[in-house]
Amino acid sequence: MQAGETFNPGLSPETAVRSARRPYTPDEKIDWVDSIPFFLVHVVGVLAIFTGFSWPAILMCFFMYYARMFAITGAYHRYFSHRSYKTSRIFQFVLGCWGASSAQQGPLWWAAHHRHHHKYSDTDEDVHSPRRRGLWWSHMGWLLSRKYAKTNEEVVKDLTKFPELMWINKNHGLAPFILAGAIYLFGAFLQNAAPGLHTNGLQMLTWGFFTSTTLLYHGTFCINSLSHLIGKKRFETGDDSKNSFMLSIVTLGEGWHNNHHRFPYSESQGIYWWEVDITHYILKAFSWVGLVWDIQTHPKEVIAEGRSRMKNGVPA
Ligand SMILES: [Zn+2]
Ligand SMILES: [Zn+2]
Repeated sequence: MQAGETFNPGLSPETAVRSARRPYTPDEKIDWVDSIPFFLVHVVGVLAIFTGFSWPAILMCFFMYYARMFAITGAYHRYFSHRSYKTSRIFQFVLGCWGASSAQQGPLWWAAHHRHHHKYSDTDEDVHSPRRRGLWWSHMGWLLSRKYAKTNEEVVKDLTKFPELMWINKNHGLAPFILAGAIYLFGAFLQNAAPGLHTNGLQMLTWGFFTSTTLLYHGTFCINSLSHLIGKKRFETGDDSKNSFMLSIVTLGEGWHNNHHRFPYSESQGIYWWEVDITHYILKAFSWVGLVWDIQTHPKEVIAEGRSRMKNGVPA
């Protein structure tokens, strides 16, 4: 052993190499100027406490969190990134706008980065691997770097052929801006129409948009960071993905991340009845009314593989 080398007791040389951190490259520096809007959302989200509390504002915060979490999980992730079900061109456009209202860039940007994650999970190439880059970088550091700000259109050619999706991707700031304005007007309307509710435009805007967007950021980012760190590993997927009930509640079903890495083409991420996956239930309801169809499911072999691993003592 050379001076300065880290001693990893119990790790084979191969494992020690795999668990090594990759150093930052010079172009991965945080772009503080371009990241101002991201930090501003956080600051206003916290300052919401100075606008006071009211049940309508807190309910709006809760509703806007989960309504847009569905847009991330059901639209950006399971539709645009994995194409795990089909829909009409009109509803595809609606899904794109709905997803953009979460202020997490456009559908093509999101899908391109996510496809890259599946291709290179927890290797040197993975942009947000906690094993390679640590918790902070995998959670949000990579998002603040100019290096990953662009959309690699080469890997989303199935989406770039729709000009309306290209338009949303380019003008992704419009949907959150309109949503914030609508939430403000709703609060101002309630102030006049129902003064007994003790809310107003500013209070509704800060809680309903800024606080919920801040929470939505970190709920979503947990899948990139914590889902590769905490939970149980049912399948040998060659990466660090884990299953977590708690993260599934926070993210409407995305916490079954080890299941997802085992078979990313399935629309549902819960495999067994106890794996609560609310995004799946909503999409199933959408299929009953004809909004979506051709939902991809887990193959019998994957379901059987999971059962046999649980029988052999692998944690459920
Ligand atoms: Zn992952
Ligand atoms: Zn995925």
